[in-house]
Amino acid sequence: MGVVVEVDRVSKVYELGGQMFQALKSVSLAIEEGVFMAIAGPSGSGKTSLLNLIGCIDTPSGGRILIDGVDVAGKSADELADLRNRTIGFIFQTFNLLPVLSAAENVEYPLLRRNDLTAAERRARVKHFLNLVGLSNFGGRRPNQLSGGQRQRVAIARALAVEPRIVLADEPTANLDRKTGDEILKLMRSLNKQLGTTFIFSTHDKRVMAMADRLVRISDGELTLLGVRTADRWAYVKAR
Ligand code: ADP
Ligand code: MG
Repeated sequence: MGVVVEVDRVSKVYELGGQMFQALKSVSLAIEEGVFMAIAGPSGSGKTSLLNLIGCIDTPSGGRILIDGVDVAGKSADELADLRNRTIGFIFQTFNLLPVLSAAENVEYPLLRRNDLTAAERRARVKHFLNLVGLSNFGGRRPNQLSGGQRQRVAIARALAVEPRIVLADEPTANLDRKTGDEILKLMRSLNKQLGTTFIFSTHDKRVMAMADRLVRISDGELTLLGVRTADRWAYVKAR
C-alpha cells in the first residue's frame, strides 16, 4: 500500500488574544492508502487541529503535509481548493448539513461546482450514495425530519459523493447514542473495505478504537503511540 498522506514534523501554534498556544508539537505520521485509522486522545489534545491540517483547511506553523508525496505548501489557492474538492471528504461531529436542503440536495451540494459532471450524472451519484448508506427512501426529507444517525448517514453520503480518496471524520459518533454510533462506525468500516477509501477519524471513545486497523494516540499535541493491526494482532510502535 502506498502512502497517501505524510505528516512530517508538523507543529501548530495558535495565537489568541496575544497568547501563543502550541497545539501540535512535531507530529510525524505516514498514512497508507486504504486504512481505517483512529486518532484517539482526550479533549484538547490536538485531534481536530491535526485533521484540519491533513484536510488542508488549515496550514501548519512548521513542518510539511504531503499528499501523494507532494508538499501542499507549494500549491496555489486554486490547486488546494481542487485538491480538497476531489480528494478529501469531510464528516463532522455535528453533521453540518444545510437545514433548508433535502437529504438528496445536501449530498448533491459539493457536486454542484464540478463542471465535469452533468446534472444526470450528479443525480445518479446522489441516488447511488444515498442507497449505499441505507437512505434510498429518505432523499426528500430535510435534516430536521431525520434522526441523528440518519443525518450522519447523509453526511457520509455527501462526503463520498465526490468519490474522494480520503475521508476525514472528526468525532463522527460524539453526538450519537451508543448503538447509533456503533452502526455509523460499522457503516464507515464497510464502506472503507468496499470502496477502498482511506478513513481517518478522531475519537475519545475506547470502543471506537477497536474497529480501526491503525491507531494513533495523541496527548498534549504529541503522538504517544502508533498501532498497526495485522490479522488479529496489534503491533505497537512508540511514536518518534
Ligand atoms: P481536540 O480536537 O483534541 O479537542 P483541538 O485540536 O481542537 O483538540 O485543540 C487543541 C488545543 O488547541 C486546545 O487547547 C484548544 O483550545 C487549542 N485551539 C484549537 N483551536 C484554536 C484556535 N483557533 N485558537 C486558539 N487555540 C485553539
Ligand atoms: Mg476536536
